[in-house]
Amino acid sequence: MNIKQKKIITRIIITALILIFFLILNSFYNFKENLKFFIFLIAYLIIGFDIVVKTLINIFKLKFLDEKSLMFIATIGAFFLKQYFEAVVVFLLYQVGEIFQDVAINRSKNQITSILHIRSTYVNLKLSSYIKKVAPEEVKINDIIIVKPGERIPLDGIVLKGCSFLDTSSITGESNFLDVQPFNKVFSGSLNISGVLEIKVEKKYEDSTVKKILDLVEKVSTRKSRAENLIKKFARVYTVSVVLASIIIFLVPVLFYGGDFKIWLERSLIFLVISCPCALVISVPVSFFLAISKAAKNGILVKGSIFLELMCKIKTIVFDKTGTLTKGKFVVKKIVSNNTSKERVLEIISLAENHLNHPIAKSIREFYGKPLNLNRVTEVKEIFGKGVIAVVDGKKVVVGNLKLMKDFSFNLKEIKNIGTTVYLAVDGEYIGFVVLEDVLKKNVKSTIKELRKNNVENIVMLTGDRNIVGEKIAKELFLDSVFCELLPFEKVEKLEHIINLRDNNVTVFVGDGVNDAASLKRADIGVAMGAIGSDVAMQACDIVLMDDDLYKLVVLIHISKKAVRTVKQNIIFSLSFKIAIFILGALGLTNIWLAIFSDVGISILAILNSFRAFKEFKN
Ligand code: ADP
Ligand code: MG
Repeated sequence: MNIKQKKIITRIIITALILIFFLILNSFYNFKENLKFFIFLIAYLIIGFDIVVKTLINIFKLKFLDEKSLMFIATIGAFFLKQYFEAVVVFLLYQVGEIFQDVAINRSKNQITSILHIRSTYVNLKLSSYIKKVAPEEVKINDIIIVKPGERIPLDGIVLKGCSFLDTSSITGESNFLDVQPFNKVFSGSLNISGVLEIKVEKKYEDSTVKKILDLVEKVSTRKSRAENLIKKFARVYTVSVVLASIIIFLVPVLFYGGDFKIWLERSLIFLVISCPCALVISVPVSFFLAISKAAKNGILVKGSIFLELMCKIKTIVFDKTGTLTKGKFVVKKIVSNNTSKERVLEIISLAENHLNHPIAKSIREFYGKPLNLNRVTEVKEIFGKGVIAVVDGKKVVVGNLKLMKDFSFNLKEIKNIGTTVYLAVDGEYIGFVVLEDVLKKNVKSTIKELRKNNVENIVMLTGDRNIVGEKIAKELFLDSVFCELLPFEKVEKLEHIINLRDNNVTVFVGDGVNDAASLKRADIGVAMGAIGSDVAMQACDIVLMDDDLYKLVVLIHISKKAVRTVKQNIIFSLSFKIAIFILGALGLTNIWLAIFSDVGISILAILNSFRAFKEFKN
């Protein structure tokens, strides 16, 4: 419980005590009217001064009236009727409802951050003769730090000494252990389990994985769902209408039909209290918050409730191939060259690809396996969707697909082998090619099946790879369509085309963030996979799957469905209850007490219903 909540609870308790004491004393002591008024005015201000001040400011600024203002007007009316006790109770219960809502939302927020309990408060910085504890912000790139077993990796870096297992569950939501040794990259936020690690820091704290994730969480909820915005707008119109209606209820009978002032003021008050839209206003964001925190526990970061709301309505999913549907871990199947040794072909390609993050580059380097002298490489230039050009040992090297070779006027014949092909030319001379093969990720087939079950009608794959490779995967997965040999900007165009063809449909793009940030941005919902460590992807997308498991998409759809269903239940429930009380009110069968309790009661029930709904998700 935070300070704000504690303060409100203290106010609730004090007010409740005043009311109880009054009731006790009142039974054997007859309070004078003035004293009564004074006691209740104090209680009223203790419990409601913030509401009073806010409403007065709003009225003064001619801003719209919210549900707080309704409460305020109702209580003023009650004071006029000398129903002081009731006036105080209205505020008291309103605050109780607020506390409930606050606790629910804060609990979700805490859940999101607690799985993300990933920020280290200190770093063991290794200096020449001793180790000093400093704040993560103070560590510079290339500093050496020590991480002991049981500590979290505070900053992103590369292991220099030591071997250990890392528990990456808090950044991926998946409990798997990563085996690390010298030269492995480690990401901040993972927990060091077994060995002491000496790490060279590669990123400052501001740029670290931990900071990126924490920033995301901070921003969650800034983009509200449609339901929330709708309810807000509705509440605005509704509140004004209710105030007008209550004025009419009071004035018309009194002015034109000689009605009794007191009776009609009371009726109009009851009407006001009944009409309070608290339950509606409260229950929608609470459900979405719970849903977002469930998602986070499953390793899915949703950047706003709007995306969660849309997720269950998706009809079209567009996948990138490499790193999204396939592992992006290529195995070299074949090396072909005329006059140069296979070893040398691999060496030159590995050198040229050395600085690149592309899965092909990483895989070839790994396959080559030997240490590389980076001084031999200069002028590296990545050509997105094609390959790379660089100067190796002073010679101009071209590494990439057929398109790239064409750009450099090599007219080569397409190789028949199924597989991704990387060609090599040195100093204007064609040398040979390497055939690579990638495999599907483990859950891809079941994910596609489940997506179909969840009413996704159109599943598309976009790839920069060759037709022959793309077609094979599309057939294996029963995709609806596949578009191959696309450059990154052509992928965005295709996506745009798909979105326009099926307008009003929600289209999702799922990518790994390697040169597809533009597509992630363009789609209604951009989902980045295994985005840990990829800053661009984390920023461009709306939803981050922290690990590589595609099946999380299905989990997300389930959570989304649940959230939307719960919101609907809450809206229907609170509206029908309101209508029932309205009818009772119109028949003169209700009193101010029933009105007060119904409003707060429904709010609390709606919140409890949201908790119930999300209980079934284990995580
Ligand atoms: P995908 O759409 O499968 O994610 P990309 O758009 O990243 O693929 O790349 C498309 C094609 O461009 C690859 O299949 C490969 O032929 C070529 N290519 C891209 N980057 C490289 C690289 N670093 N080295 C060699 N070839 C590359
Ligand atoms: Mg890609």
